[in-house]
Amino acid sequence: MKYCRFVSAEGPRYGIIENMSGVDQITHIAPGNEIPDFLGAQKVAPIPVASAKLLAPVDPAKIVCVGRNYRDHVKELGNDEPAEPVIFLKPQTSLIGPGDKIVRPQRLSQRVDYEAELTIVIGKRCRNLGENEDVKPYILGYTCSNDVTTRDLQRKDGQWTRAKSFDTFCPVGPIVTDEIDPWAGVRVESYVNGVVKQSESTTAFIFPVDVIVRFCAAVMTLLPGDLILTGTPAGIGSVVAGDEVAITIQGIGSLKNPVVDSD
Ligand code: MG
Repeated sequence: MKYCRFVSAEGPRYGIIENMSGVDQITHIAPGNEIPDFLGAQKVAPIPVASAKLLAPVDPAKIVCVGRNYRDHVKELGNDEPAEPVIFLKPQTSLIGPGDKIVRPQRLSQRVDYEAELTIVIGKRCRNLGENEDVKPYILGYTCSNDVTTRDLQRKDGQWTRAKSFDTFCPVGPIVTDEIDPWAGVRVESYVNGVVKQSESTTAFIFPVDVIVRFCAAVMTLLPGDLILTGTPAGIGSVVAGDEVAITIQGIGSLKNPVVDSD
């Protein structure tokens, strides 16, 4: 299934997306604005996804991120390959949706980087999963994220909280799908002004999705709507005001955000 969260006449709503005659359309809308099970979704006159104002596809309680999960990216930053997943958090206030502006904190940082990341959307509360327990029942689907980072502050601080946490530093979307298989490989790409910067398959993960979910759930209770960003491939680089960053993942779509400077 594919779904999005968008601005309806009644406010933010979750919509089911179906392809009709080659066009992605919202065909059902879930009641309320909570993570839906879609059982009570109402059929509506089809709304083309391209003409809907899309929002970040969930309102997460937390955003967990995995660092250093692709060997080539570990090398490009001169780090050692981790023996177990390296995780950190981004605040909920960093979340923005498709088309929203990434604001560069120009007085505090001289280098703001994009990071394309396949993102897991948790669908069911989970904690302490068994070693052989299947993680798929806990995953609602997958989406695209941009783990925007002030690289200079990340190096200066020695830990990552400030570098990863500015408002607007977590664009997510455009949709969520459970119709892709990260274990089999999906291509994760970033583009700046239409020029490809990162392009790698999730088969290059150091830690696959099941290891990541199990690792996180051993630390904290994962709640429906929580996001887990799975790390970025090699090819990171900076953006400036006026740029447009697109995070494109096979089977999901393109998450596009313009970059502006703070006042
Ligand atoms: Mg990252």
